[in-house]
Amino acid sequence: MQVPNANIRSPSYYIAEMQARCAKCGRQARVLALAVPPNHEILVEGEWQNVDGDAFVFYVAELPDAVSRHLFERSPAFRLQQGEDPADSHWINHCEHCAEAFSDDELHCEPGGFMPSRALDAEAISLSRIDEGFSASAAGYALAPEFFASMRRP
Ligand SMILES: [Zn+2]
Repeated sequence: MQVPNANIRSPSYYIAEMQARCAKCGRQARVLALAVPPNHEILVEGEWQNVDGDAFVFYVAELPDAVSRHLFERSPAFRLQQGEDPADSHWINHCEHCAEAFSDDELHCEPGGFMPSRALDAEAISLSRIDEGFSASAAGYALAPEFFASMRRP
């Protein structure tokens, strides 16, 4: 079952995990992200299109319960943050020590985080593949991330 406003879907997906430094307390905290393998589909102007590449998915507003449960098992600190406007609600990481939020801009749109600038940094990211259906309503989508092949598959 896909979520009602899905704009991305895939027969399998990855949960990415790494340590990031909290800007508030300065400690290392576990942060999670979602990615999809080649042959996922994205909704473009009302039509599903197949995409032959890996992609990170962020600014996620809706996820199926099964995906939420897998995320919760790895870190309850990655959770849906309700905005004042429901349109602003999305999943974000929080520091496991002080609860400060990590923005998806910081983790996905700037070098470092889930956008490594060299293979060595990519090796600090682990990718767990889950062979279950995935769908999401997401505003952020990074196709063909650099150094994706260097990320660890446990
Ligand atoms: Zn902190």
